[in-house]
Amino acid sequence: MKKAACLILILGLFSSCSKVPLTGRSQLAFLSNQELQPFVNEEYTKALKTNKLVTNSDAGRQVVQVGKKMSEAVEKYLLDEGYEDLVKEFDWEFNLLDSDQVNAWCMPGGKVAFYTGILPITQNETGIAVVMGHEIAHAVASHANERMSTGLLVNFGFGVLSAAAGQNPTLTQEIFLQSVGIGSELKMLQFSRKHELEADRMGLIFMAMAGYDPREAPVFWDRMAASADQVPPEFLSTHPGPDRRSERLNARMPEALEYYQRIK
Ligand SMILES: [Zn+2]
Repeated sequence: MKKAACLILILGLFSSCSKVPLTGRSQLAFLSNQELQPFVNEEYTKALKTNKLVTNSDAGRQVVQVGKKMSEAVEKYLLDEGYEDLVKEFDWEFNLLDSDQVNAWCMPGGKVAFYTGILPITQNETGIAVVMGHEIAHAVASHANERMSTGLLVNFGFGVLSAAAGQNPTLTQEIFLQSVGIGSELKMLQFSRKHELEADRMGLIFMAMAGYDPREAPVFWDRMAASADQVPPEFLSTHPGPDRRSERLNARMPEALEYYQRIK
């Protein structure tokens, strides 16, 4: 059987797609968080070992504070919307790591890291909330699971993670790193744009739910774009900027402001 036909057949088998909270988009994400956990643990431990944890600073405390506020607001929303199983998967942790990299990420399960290199661009608590909302959105929308699921099918022709890891552990690890956006090279670009737009939209609402002014989001992304030629481009390379980001965010602003005003 041709590879493409085989893939279509396999995709058909997994037609019971899950739905992304808030946007309602159907997605092919068939791995369980439990299966992803060993990969998450390994990379998370590695990140905390490689970079010094910054706890005793205003920024360190802000990252934790923003993370707690936002994860509580998001969990409340998810529970109201019937996503109990998804909420159970989260065991949140928020860290500021001492590194020049302009980056931040949230692993499946809610392990969050900010690098000090992004602080000159976030500038304040609301700027941290913009990035926090965007990164948490990637995790809530199970983007890594979706990329990993498709990555396994495309590279191995099947979707069993343990079997893939047994057959080619290096490739499986590489697919995982790309799935969570900390790989050195992003090869699954067809997903990037869709996922970035979705994370922007969800992140805007999440920051508003936590009481941060969503109107600061386009201001932050403009600042990020303006800094792109002065800072190492790690963040932008793992987060390719969608066209007209500010414009798209502003188009979503009325919805975000409704959430923001509800809690004010
Ligand atoms: Zn992103």
